[in-house]
Formats: sequence, structure tokens, C-alpha cells
Amino acid sequence: MDYQKLFESIDARQTEMLEMLETLVNIDSGSYHIAGVDRVAGVVEQQLKPLGFGTDRIDSPQYARHLRAVKKGAGGKKLLLIGHMDTVFPEGTAAKRSFSISGGKAYGPGVCDMKAGLVCLVYGVKALLEQGRDSFGSITVLLNSDEERGSVTSRACIEEEARAADAAIVLEGGPKPGYVVIERQGGGIFNMEIKGKPAHAGANPKDGAHAIEELAHKILALHALTDYTAGKSISVGVINGGTRSNIIPENVKAEIDLRCKTQADGLELIRRMQEICKQSIVPGTISSVQEVSYRPPFEKTEGNIELMRHMRRAGSHLGLEIKEEFSGGGTDGNYTSVLGTPTIDSVGPEGGGEHTDDEYLIVESLFERTKLFAAFLAEMTS
Ligand SMILES: [Zn+2]
Repeated sequence: MDYQKLFESIDARQTEMLEMLETLVNIDSGSYHIAGVDRVAGVVEQQLKPLGFGTDRIDSPQYARHLRAVKKGAGGKKLLLIGHMDTVFPEGTAAKRSFSISGGKAYGPGVCDMKAGLVCLVYGVKALLEQGRDSFGSITVLLNSDEERGSVTSRACIEEEARAADAAIVLEGGPKPGYVVIERQGGGIFNMEIKGKPAHAGANPKDGAHAIEELAHKILALHALTDYTAGKSISVGVINGGTRSNIIPENVKAEIDLRCKTQADGLELIRRMQEICKQSIVPGTISSVQEVSYRPPFEKTEGNIELMRHMRRAGSHLGLEIKEEFSGGGTDGNYTSVLGTPTIDSVGPEGGGEHTDDEYLIVESLFERTKLFAAFLAEMTS
């Protein structure tokens, strides 16, 4: 591969890339805005079809359809490119703060998370194919519509594609200049409910079953499972219960945050939490716990380290030293890595302030990261 030519072809398209970004940012595509997310899918599809991708849409019961695009090559690795089309912003945001550029930064809803990543994906693949590279088994692009809602309706499809792939590349924004991610914390949210029995706190307290007292025992038992040095923790972050101070409380609810660094730790924490839930200390109370969401940790596997080697080599063609960052939060990379599919994440352009009105993209990184991504694809297919 002539890397200089590869990079020049991307630089020659800077204006086009910014135009595509502007188009995407100015389309409201909050997870609940089905028509908007569909329009984003249409814009990307229009770019991929002329490159020889066959496309289809996958139904979602709640959200817009997910977009899948597949191009077969002459043989070699099967690459899965993952991104999301939805944002966290409600309809009307794009009109209020439409795409703008000032001082080397671009602004607008989803500019960094992750509309720039979609542009990077399209133009990286385009540059690679234009250099005549076809030494891949297949390139599958999977863009979901519900990532910001925990990928509840796309997870099964992501997992199915990941099982068939040799590598998963997630185009979320880079955590900071020069860094990508091959390891992330896992975690989840759980709801606990405790039911006791009401009674007058003065007249007949012994007839009651004190739900809040039971929760107090449970909170201490749950928090005792925390071991920050091992990267695992449980925190009861919200409690809600009782009605009046002179009534033995009948009901209490708690929201629990769970974090872990390995899948073994995560499953163990969940098992212990369920055990603690079952054991009543205050007689007459009954407790239940429900999973709201759980993303398995994205462990630093041998396969992920191997992708990092390719990424470092890709960076060296640009004179960049690419490093890895251990990251909190979760992305669809958590779902692919736990299956054993080599995964590299946050390959997309850099910025900050995600999920806020101050979100921005470093404009230069749109071009630099697209070159890095294209060089990475070239390394992976050489
Ligand atoms: Zn994102």
C-alpha cells in the first residue's frame, strides 16, 4: 500500500467530508426520533452503495431500523465496522444549535458522538477501496439506532455479526488525541424493591416489618463487596421509601450501580447481590432485584492487543504514536469483546463534551483519524 497516496486521497476530500458532517449533524436523530434516524441511515447508505456495498435494514420494535451494509472481498479477514446513528438530543436541537465551526472546532448535536465517526467510517473505507484493496473476506458496516438507549434492540444483531467476524472496529470518538480503547469497565444498573408491613410506630411497631431497616442491612452488605483496587464496586445511589415518620415503612426501592473490570467479577457480583437480596434480616420483609441494564466488561484480550499492534503501525505511517486508554463507560465494543471477537474502540475523531450542549469536535482530527482508520484497514488487509 502506498500510504502517502492513501492519505492524499483523504486530504483531497476535506470539503466533502465536512459537508457530509454538516448534513448529518443538522438532522435531528435522537433515539426516539425514528424519521430522523432513518434519514441518517439514508445519507450513509447513499455513500456506501456506489462503493459496492449491499445494504439492508433490520427492524427494531421500538426504534428506527438498524442499517447493515456488506461488501465481499477477494478473501481474508472479515471486518465488522460498528457505529450508531442516534444521539441523546430531542427533536428541535439541530434547529437551535445547527452545525457550526469556529476556532478549529465543530459544534452541533452529536457532532462528536458520533456523526464524525460515521464520516470517518465512510471516507476511510472509500479511500481504501479506491486504492484497489480487496484482500478482505468481507467488510460489514452495522449502524444501530439505539446505542444511546443501551442497544437493547440491536444487541442480538451486533453479537451475531461479531461472532462471524475476525475483528470488530468501533468508530466512537477518540477519548483524547492519540488514544484508542481496547479495554473498558463493565457495569450495570439494578433495581431492588423491599416489601415489609406497615404498622403504627408508637402503638404496635412490632406488628410491622420495617422495609427501610432491611434495606439498611442490605446496603452495608452490598457495599462490602466493593474492592476499588480490583476495579469492582457496588453503590446504592438512590433510595426511595416510607411515607410518614410515625409509620413503620412498608415499601422501599433502591437503584444500584455495579462496576467491574472482568466478566468473572461482574457475574460474581450479580450472584452475591442476588444472595443478599434473598436473605431477610428483618422478619416479614421480602426483597426482589431486577436488572435494568448490564454491559459486560471489555477485557484486554490477546486479540484486542493484536489489533492495537496494527493500530500502532497504522499510526507510524502518519508519524503518530497511538496509545491505549483504559476507559469507563460502555459502548457496543463491550458486547463484541466479551464474545472473544478482537475489538478496538474509539477509533473515530476526537472531541469532548458528549451528551451536553458544549459538545465539540476537533476539526483537524476528522481528517487525521480518517487517515489513521484507513491505514489501520490497510494494515489489517495486508
Ligand atoms: Zn456514542
